[in-house]
Amino acid sequence: MKKGPTRRDSSPERVAAANERFREEAERYGLAYRCQQCIHLRPEGVQCALGYPNEMLALGEVRALDEEGRFVFCKDFELDD
Ligand code: SF4
Repeated sequence: MKKGPTRRDSSPERVAAANERFREEAERYGLAYRCQQCIHLRPEGVQCALGYPNEMLALGEVRALDEEGRFVFCKDFELDD
C-alpha cells in the first residue's frame, strides 16, 4: 500500500489520541474499512487480490493513523456484502 505524507503534528500523544477517537467512532457507527470486509481479501498470504501488502489493515490494531501519523486507509476498499 502506498504511504501518504506524514501529518505535521505526529507526536506519539497526538497519534494515540486520534486513534482512540477513531476506535470509538468506528465502533459506534459500524465503520467498514478493514480488509476482512473487502471483496479483494485473500485469506492466504499477506497480499490481497490487488497485490497490496495488507498486513496492517487485515491484522493490525484498529486505527486511523500509523505511528508516523499517516492514514492507513486503502483507497481500493470495496465492501463485500
Ligand atoms: S483492496 Fe485494500 S482494503 Fe481491500 S483487501 Fe486489498 S488492501 Fe485490503
